[in-house]
This record gives sequence, C-alpha cells and structure tokens, in this order.
Amino acid sequence: MNTRACYDLIVVGGGIAGYHTAFSARDADPGMKILVISAETTPTYSAPSLPDYVSGHIPREKVFVAREEEFEAQRIELRLNQRVTSADPEAKTLTTEKGEVLAYRRLVLATGSVPIQLRRMPGTSLPGNHVLRTVADAEALASAPAKRAVVVGTGAIGLEGASALRERGVEEVTLVEALEWINPKCFDRRASDYMTAELERIGVRVLLGEGIVSVEGNDRVSGVRTAKRAIPCDLVLWGIGMRPVVDLAVSMGAALGEHGGIRIDAQMRTSLPDVYAVGDCTEPYDLFYRKNMPNMLWRTATEQGMLLGSLLGGGQAEDYEGAKLLFLTYVGDAPACACGYPESALKGQRYTVLEDCGPGSYRKVLLQRRRIVGFQMVNTLEGANELYAQMLKGEPVELAAGLERDPVRFPLKSVALSAYLARMERVRPTE
Ligand SMILES: Cc1cc2nc3c(=O)[nH]c(=O)nc-3n(C[C@H](O)[C@H](O)[C@H](O)COP(=O)(O)OP(=O)(O)OC[C@H]3O[C@@H](n4cnc5c(N)ncnc54)[C@H](O)[C@@H]3O)c2cc1C
Repeated sequence: MNTRACYDLIVVGGGIAGYHTAFSARDADPGMKILVISAETTPTYSAPSLPDYVSGHIPREKVFVAREEEFEAQRIELRLNQRVTSADPEAKTLTTEKGEVLAYRRLVLATGSVPIQLRRMPGTSLPGNHVLRTVADAEALASAPAKRAVVVGTGAIGLEGASALRERGVEEVTLVEALEWINPKCFDRRASDYMTAELERIGVRVLLGEGIVSVEGNDRVSGVRTAKRAIPCDLVLWGIGMRPVVDLAVSMGAALGEHGGIRIDAQMRTSLPDVYAVGDCTEPYDLFYRKNMPNMLWRTATEQGMLLGSLLGGGQAEDYEGAKLLFLTYVGDAPACACGYPESALKGQRYTVLEDCGPGSYRKVLLQRRRIVGFQMVNTLEGANELYAQMLKGEPVELAAGLERDPVRFPLKSVALSAYLARMERVRPTE
C-alpha cells in the first residue's frame, strides 16, 4: 500500500506526552488535522498505575487515561498497533510498517522509553523473564503462576514491582540490587536502610551489593545466580532502568543529547525543521541540575506535551521553564521521595546535612550556602512541598533556631520553613 494523506500534525507515540500534545493542539486550534500513531494496541494509559494494576489494587479500566472514543470526539485520528518505520524530514513524510506514506506539516516524536534488557546475559530470553512497561506487560506479570520471584533493580519499577508481587500473593519476593544501597542516584545509605526495613516489613527480602550474573533454567526460569548465591525462583522482573527510544529520530538525522535522548530546545524543537520531541525520548533542561538531561517522569511528559500542543495550535510561544527531577515512589504504603542531589554526589564539596531519624520515618535535607540542594524522605512527606518550592526558588533559607518567634522580620512562609529545618538535627556542617 502506498497512499499519501496529509496532516497538519502527526504525533508518533500515544503515551502521555503524545496524548497531551495532540489534545492541547486540538484545544488551541479546532481546525487542525491531527493524527496520533502508536505501535501499541491500547490507547493512552498511566504507566505509574501499572504496579497497582499488578497488585490488584485497581481494575483494568482505571489504568487508561483516554479511550478511543475520546480521541474520536476531539476529531483526533488515532491509529493503534502501527509502527512508524521511517521518516523523511525533507519530503516531510513518514512511512508506517504497512508501507503507507503519510505527509505532515509538523511532526512530533513522542516515542518514549523502553526497559533496558540484558540480552547477552545467559537465561534472559527464557520464559519467566518479565519487564513492566505496557498494559500487556502488567497482565503477563499479574497472571504468571509464580510462587517465588526475583526483582532486579531498585528504581520505581523495582520497588513498586516487588511490593505489587507480594500483594498479588507471590510467596517469596527477593529484591536484588547490584549497587551498595537502594537507588543511590537519588538516596543515601540511611534512607536506603529505612526503605529496606519497610520492604522487609511487607515480606520482601532485600539483597544489596549483589548483581545477577545469570538466569538459570532449561525451558523456563528456575532461578538466578549472583556472585554470592543461587536464588530459586519462577519469575524475574527486570527493573534496571529505561532507555529513550530514538531510532526513528536518529534515522531522520535528528541530533541527540549527551545522554542519548533527543536534543530539544525550550520549545521542544529538535535539530530538524518542523520536527519536535516530547516526553521520555528527550533530554529536557532540568531546573535543579541546570543542564539538559534525561528526566523520564510523568509530569515532565505531561508539561512538555501540553505546552508543545498549545504552541503548535497557534498559542503563545512560551518557553518550557524546565523539568524537575523529583523521585516519588511507594514501598508498600510508605512513600519514599527524593529531589536534587544525594550526599554521595556532593563528595569533595562543602555542604550541610540536616537529618531527622524517627523510629519509622526519615528526613534529610542538604544545603549549600544556605540553599537547599537536595532532600530525601521515607515513610513521611512532611514538608516535602515546601522544600521543593524553596529548591525551585533557589533562595537561601534561614537556619538559625528561634526564628519562628520573630514573624515581623521574616515573612511567614520562610519562618515556617526555618522552624521546620530548625527541628532537624544538624549532623554534618562542612561549610
Ligand atoms: C511501571 C512504571 C512506573 C512508573 N512510575 C512513575 C512514577 O511513579 N512517577 C513518574 O513520574 N513516572 C513514572 N513512570 C514514568 C512515566 O510513566 C513516563 O515518564 C511517561 O509515561 C512517559 O510518557 P511518554 O509519552 O514520553 O512515553 P511512553 O509512555 O513510553 O510512550 C511512547 C509511545 O510511543 C510508541 N512508539 C515508540 N516508537 C514508535 C514508532 N516508531 N511508531 C509508533 N509508535 C511508537 C511506544 O510504543 C509508546 O506507546 C513510570 C513508568 C513505568 C513503566
């Protein structure tokens, strides 16, 4: 087949970034001819809710953000189960796997990310190896008749996946992390200890500093092997990170950023004319780290999509202020949240650490020159919004105790934050 239809806007990818781009473009311009084309068989869903679907907390219908009828009602053409295999930025056309050629005025790449898989490790292609990224993955995981599971990696997917499998009724769940503690990109060791305690409380065994070297089994998974031990299991869930999907962008000649995501500017323009990119496949500017870097968070994909859709629909040419790397996950019912730098990333620099080690909950705040540069919390979110807002402002905070008694000199908000910080123990003043 080789027909040519022309669209004002084609969005490749029907995840949350593509969804918001198309719907906000429609809001801004009722006349635009818009196509969303997705390799998946389902319309837009919430990936963050997949662990809750696996655990049985929410039914299937709650996973979806939009039904096909909602696309139809907005006159947005949605094509599911169709991969775009190539695109020609000069001719402004793209080709689907069915050989259909479609012409665009503007093209948005919202191709997302996929789980990293260790295909060369022995045993990883045996049945019983799982990832968690799509609705189909969640259903495969939930219906696997497993009694013993090993979950690899301690990012959101590993932590929430391990909790979900326990809740689903898997009798033995072992969480394995090759690095020394849980999610060291975001958390320091003590926060990890609190998370480990929570995981153990819900019946998850935690093995840290122990990488998987092979998956064992003849015709399906029967166990994994680390450098230290063999762990029998009938299911392995891999949660060792995501990589941006950039094959289409690369084949078109779009420039990539330092970390392998699509390079974009503040208006989501790629290096190619009339080609834009949003969501997990990009490297947006990060407000806290002050550089372009992968973000791969729901909120960023949403914000980018909404802004870009409005721009493409003729709205005001606003710049995207930037992404904010805020990690929030749940270990069982306990929230675990981290933002900005962990202490391990500040080695060799001057900084102050405030800590509150409660019996079941933990808070840590890191400051440099009186500015909050990071915080971590486990089993509490008390003050998280205020710390986050203060980090965004980038203004110094007053650390002297007793400020709460002098509301005339200090505006109420900063007094509240100072009082909050004054209640924490100053454990490492290195500045
Ligand atoms: C299990 C899980 C839990 C998560 N939990 C959280 C959380 O708690 N908080 C948080 O902030 N974030 C979380 N995330 C991350 C968040 O879901 C993502 O940041 C967000 O969904 C990214 O959306 P996206 O539209 O950019 O990409 P995706 O959702 O990856 O969508 C991209 C789509 O493009 C399609 N596509 C790719 N290439 C082509 C092609 N050539 N042709 C056609 N279609 C194509 C893909 O099939 C896919 O459907 C989680 C993710 C997962 C998987």
